Amino acid sequence: MTFYLKSSSKNVLKSALDARKLLPFAFVLMLAFLVAMAWDSFSRTRELLSSQVYVEHTHQVLYEMDAIQDGLGDAREAWLHYVLTPEQQDLDTFAESSKQVWKRVARVEELTKDDPTQQERIKQLQVWITEELKQLGDNLRTNKTLLIYHSPATDFKQDRVRNAVQKFKDEQEIILRQRNLAAQARAEEVERSVSVRVGGFSALMAVLFLLVIRESKKLRIAEQAALHSQTKLEGSLLQLQIETESGKLLNELQANLQICVNAPEAYEVLGAYAQKFIPDSAGAVFAIDSSRNLMGVMASWGESLSPTQHILSPEDCCAMRGGRLHLRMEHSQGLACRHFSGSIPDFYACLPLAALGETLGILHISASSSELFTAARLAMIQQGGEYAALRLANLRLREKLHDQSIRDPLTGLYNRRFLEATLEQELHRSSRHHTGLGVIMADIDKFKLFNDTFGHTAGDIVLKEIASLFKRSVRTEDIVCRYGGEEFLIVLPDASLESVRERAEQMREAIVKLELQHAGHALGKITASLGISFSQDGVLTPDILLRYADEALYESKRRGCNCVSLSESVVNLLAEEQAKNPAPTPLSFKIAQS
Ligand code: GH3
Ligand code: MG
Ligand code: MG
Repeated sequence: MTFYLKSSSKNVLKSALDARKLLPFAFVLMLAFLVAMAWDSFSRTRELLSSQVYVEHTHQVLYEMDAIQDGLGDAREAWLHYVLTPEQQDLDTFAESSKQVWKRVARVEELTKDDPTQQERIKQLQVWITEELKQLGDNLRTNKTLLIYHSPATDFKQDRVRNAVQKFKDEQEIILRQRNLAAQARAEEVERSVSVRVGGFSALMAVLFLLVIRESKKLRIAEQAALHSQTKLEGSLLQLQIETESGKLLNELQANLQICVNAPEAYEVLGAYAQKFIPDSAGAVFAIDSSRNLMGVMASWGESLSPTQHILSPEDCCAMRGGRLHLRMEHSQGLACRHFSGSIPDFYACLPLAALGETLGILHISASSSELFTAARLAMIQQGGEYAALRLANLRLREKLHDQSIRDPLTGLYNRRFLEATLEQELHRSSRHHTGLGVIMADIDKFKLFNDTFGHTAGDIVLKEIASLFKRSVRTEDIVCRYGGEEFLIVLPDASLESVRERAEQMREAIVKLELQHAGHALGKITASLGISFSQDGVLTPDILLRYADEALYESKRRGCNCVSLSESVVNLLAEEQAKNPAPTPLSFKIAQS
């Protein structure tokens, strides 16, 4: 999935980058278009300018022709003035005008030298002007002006020149009109061409702009896709890292739970790993007792954050009530557990530890922030809780099976099998540590009769009560077991013979004092006979020790029941020992027969 995202965003990015490579070509194309357009405009403008030069040229010719006409007019006027009132000034004006006329004619000749037809006409005009001016000049010199002023020859020459000039001008005006039209047409063409090019350029610019916009949009999308897939990839990597770490922790937890031999160890291991599940957390692991009414702390960490009570009722915890993980991630959110000794933590999780249909305790974790309770960590807590609960249930099952194999189901005391195995060990210990070991064998007197009188159920009650009395009467290291039907055996390691005897006597007296009832009826007085056997430094074997105790019990029965007897064999052994070693030993005391 990650690979797909990565490769698809890569493709988009690649195509966007490829498209970006086209942009310089588009710019070069636009530049070439601009240059071509500029060149074309330049040449068209030049054409337009040259056509305007032609127009200007025609204007110039016309202007010169007008000047010729004016000069001729001035010459004629000066000539006429001189005829009427001869003055030197008129002669000067005539001469000047004539000069001007020739100057203009020369100018026109110069202007039209490219046109042979015009040149032809100019030459003709020159001839005619020469003739007219010559005649006028001759008249002025000969003073025959009045005679020739109105002569047909003079008129003819004047008209001829005037008409020729006019005709030339008319032709020039036609040319001017044509050139004007041509210049105008050229100007319109230039305008059209410029409009078309400006339009084309604008269109090209628009296309280029759109292309740039499109490519930048593509690039932005590609960048976003790349960023998105990168973020996703980073997230996946982080997730993978968390999962790997979680898996590692859970594997370690499972391995450690497997080597636990009892429940307290398993609770301890769970507590140690739970604090690793959520860093900087506090918490506790609770175990439910056999009565299922109380829960006690088996392991805890980070006390400051987790002010839970050390003993609580299962109902105090919401997780126990609901039978599933209870999360409280806001101060005011949901129901809070009642197992806090101080203020309720804002953020905590409680998980019931349940397996094989049995709830064994709670795992409680609190932290300073809800963000510490990520989904991955909560999953880890649940998984860890399941592992621990399963291991605890297995340990409990194992203990139960073991218990069943070594305990008597009616009284809960150890059975004979357990005693035989333990007694041997205790004798070895006694030998190693040079201590005394006492054995008290007790038998309820006339129990068959009791059963017959009060019934078997009442008999069972008596057995349980006496078992409980024996357990209460001894130290924790002493072993009390049900040896046979109504026979009990108490092993007292690390004890003196005197203390054993005293303990036996106390037991006997306590049994006598029992006042039991069943079904509203008093069960009467119960007595027991007790026999004591003793071994110093583990000198006796288990069989001999038990035989001596049995012999002592028989002696008590023989003496009339409800009494304590010390084995005669033990007494003899002690006497022998004392004879061998007169120095005071732990055994050198006067043995009093009860
Ligand atoms: P003694 O004073 O000589 O010991 O006489 P006794 O009747 O106690 O001894 P006996 O061996 O004749 O009888 C033992 C009786 O203990 C027989 C049996 O009914 C009873 N008994 C053994 N186990 C149980 C038990 O689990 N429950 C009950 N109610 N009675 C038991
Ligand atoms: Mg008996
Ligand atoms: Mg018996």
